[in-house]
Amino acid sequence: MTANPVRLQAIAAVEASTPPPISFDPGEEPGEIFGSNVFSLTAMQKRLPKSVYKSVVATIEKSTRLDPEVADAVASAMKDWALEKGATHYAHVFYPLTGLTAEKHDSFLDPVGDGTAFASFSGKTLVQGEPDASSFPNGGLRNTFEARGYTGWDVMSPAYVLENPNGNTLCIPTIFISMTGEALDHKTPVLRSQQAMSVHARRVLELFGHTDPDNVVAYCGPEQEYFLVDSHFFLARPDLLNAGRTLFGAKPPKGQEFDDHYFGAIPERVLGFMMDTERELFKLGIPAKTRHNEVAPGQFEVAPMFERANEASDHQQLLMTTFKSVAKKHGMECLFHEKPFAGVNGSGKHVNFSLGNSELGSLLVPGDNPHDNAQFLVFCAAVIRAVHKYSGLLRVSVASASNDHRLGANEAPPAIISIFLGDQLADVFDQIAKGGATHSKERGTLMVGVDTLPNLTKDPGDRNRTSPFAFTGNRFEFRAPGSNQTVAGPMVMINTIMAEALDHCATYLEDAVAGGTDFNEAVQALLSDIVADHGAVIFNGNGYSDEWPVEAEQRGLKNLRTTVDALPELISPEAIELFGRYGVFNAGEAHSRFEIGCEQYVLAVAVEANLTLEIGTTTVLPAALRYQTELAINVKALADAGVTPDRTGLETVSERIAALTAGLATLRTAIAHEHAADPLETARTARDQVLPAMAAVREAADELEGLVADDLWPLPTYQEMLYIL
Ligand code: ADP
Ligand code: MG
Repeated sequence: MTANPVRLQAIAAVEASTPPPISFDPGEEPGEIFGSNVFSLTAMQKRLPKSVYKSVVATIEKSTRLDPEVADAVASAMKDWALEKGATHYAHVFYPLTGLTAEKHDSFLDPVGDGTAFASFSGKTLVQGEPDASSFPNGGLRNTFEARGYTGWDVMSPAYVLENPNGNTLCIPTIFISMTGEALDHKTPVLRSQQAMSVHARRVLELFGHTDPDNVVAYCGPEQEYFLVDSHFFLARPDLLNAGRTLFGAKPPKGQEFDDHYFGAIPERVLGFMMDTERELFKLGIPAKTRHNEVAPGQFEVAPMFERANEASDHQQLLMTTFKSVAKKHGMECLFHEKPFAGVNGSGKHVNFSLGNSELGSLLVPGDNPHDNAQFLVFCAAVIRAVHKYSGLLRVSVASASNDHRLGANEAPPAIISIFLGDQLADVFDQIAKGGATHSKERGTLMVGVDTLPNLTKDPGDRNRTSPFAFTGNRFEFRAPGSNQTVAGPMVMINTIMAEALDHCATYLEDAVAGGTDFNEAVQALLSDIVADHGAVIFNGNGYSDEWPVEAEQRGLKNLRTTVDALPELISPEAIELFGRYGVFNAGEAHSRFEIGCEQYVLAVAVEANLTLEIGTTTVLPAALRYQTELAINVKALADAGVTPDRTGLETVSERIAALTAGLATLRTAIAHEHAADPLETARTARDQVLPAMAAVREAADELEGLVADDLWPLPTYQEMLYIL
């Protein structure tokens, strides 16, 4: 009997592989390449007439509508710039609801009619495109016979040139909408929600004495966790290849319990990869800043500097594509799945969020004097109200089949959304709640009741890694988003719920002042009202503890464990009203997103279920049967030779094989389960019947992995995938 060689061949191939050629040029200055492939404001300033340039800046900073003549001038300069960079094509890049990035490429060349062609690119082509978009998910918003979809240039996110050995492409970040103006993408609602949030943030700022402040934007700094796996192993694991996670695999004898990987020395091969990716990201103007090992073996993190939310979400998508392609060059595969390895830490994407503008900086910085503190406290209180009132929307913004494996698994923030403020800030809000902090006014400075307010320092001192929404000194860190998802989803929700909360604060203060109440008193009253109504969401304790879900329930906080529990939040009457009020989604759009959410969940589970069935039947079971035969032959040979054989091995393996076979049969039935008409019902069936059936197959298979002879085992093991880099 010959051993199944796939896994062993993979190991041999890894050993024989050579590192990729060095592309590092020691003479190169990082500053020189940064943004070299971006049609940035600086590039525009160099190439555009002053008036045109000013008009573009006004569009970005003050949201003035883009004038078509300006678009023509920008398009022409952009084309010249791109041609100089070796671009032959341009592409409108958009972010459909699959969560992926879509591009439609067109050549710059237009035939003139005399056998030659002329490079052209008009303002109209820059501003609007029309991809044949019939097969992108739309959740019932369009029928295929009216499949027109339009892409529209997002002036606030700069165009860039993407290099390829066979020719470069000018990429233009766009929104993607239906013929009737409904959003079919992730970007449109980011821009809409950003606008809504800005309106009300400016009202609050005006109350604090800022006259005609610039647009307020949401800033987003996403920390991205990922795994690297050698390509040979990846290719020998059909589950990783097709589902992005291992559907089989016993826990390795050595896991992450030593914590010896966290911030450890970065392996040379990985460092080479990181340097290469950073160089590519720099060219695209993506400010990758920190890099380090993460908790699990084979796991790493990259954190780009924060940017405006819409730009950050474009960059984040581009970062993931860049990582994947550079990893391949280095003979590795980059995994963004939230939980590629069971029993080992999963990967998240922490969304660091603040709001502000270039004029005022971050509005979540406490500042040095009480006046700043008061303004800061109002913004902070708005976050508290927003997160408490709409925790369900934050939860659903991070809900996916893959993130379900991570949330609530005692390694990542629980499915309960709470806020960590840190001792200092929690204490301030505590004082406010007790009303003990009385209001007074000192000459020249506004004092907000909280006389005893300590000077807040920028460093919050402590950290809480178990909180899903933590204040970290000048921003909040939303730690629940999954590593694979776009940050656009969470940012839309954050912007929208902040719009509502800031609207509430502005209205409260405006009314109070109009009614003759002293402004400081009004602020004090507003803050204590918010703490009284929404303080239940503040939790500084251990979010991983067993007591927390119990306490959270007493506090009336939602605990939406799975995607199926969370999805209805999108279409609750309160949500529909909120989205409508702030112009983020109309009811049809909200429903379409709910349907797509259900659909994507069902599809993800179906792919995994079919893979489990296939790998279980064609890879694991045959290996186990071969080993069973070997044991049976051995038992018989011993008996024939007059030695009493020990049958335990054979019996245990046979038992596990029976469990595996039974599991596969149950899974086959669960998969065949007919789809219900109601998309949520279908998703519920996937969760309650298909996932447990998959788990049963896996359990039997993983036990067999610990029994079957090593030279027969077909799938690369956790040990191999996680430790050989
Ligand atoms: P840590 O590991 O301590 O959480 P990192 O340095 O890994 O911190 O990442 C912090 C992230 O937060 C970075 O992306 C950073 O740019 C971002 N960030 C810092 N300040 C702000 C801010 N005011 N608003 C939004 N994001 C911010
Ligand atoms: Mg970090």
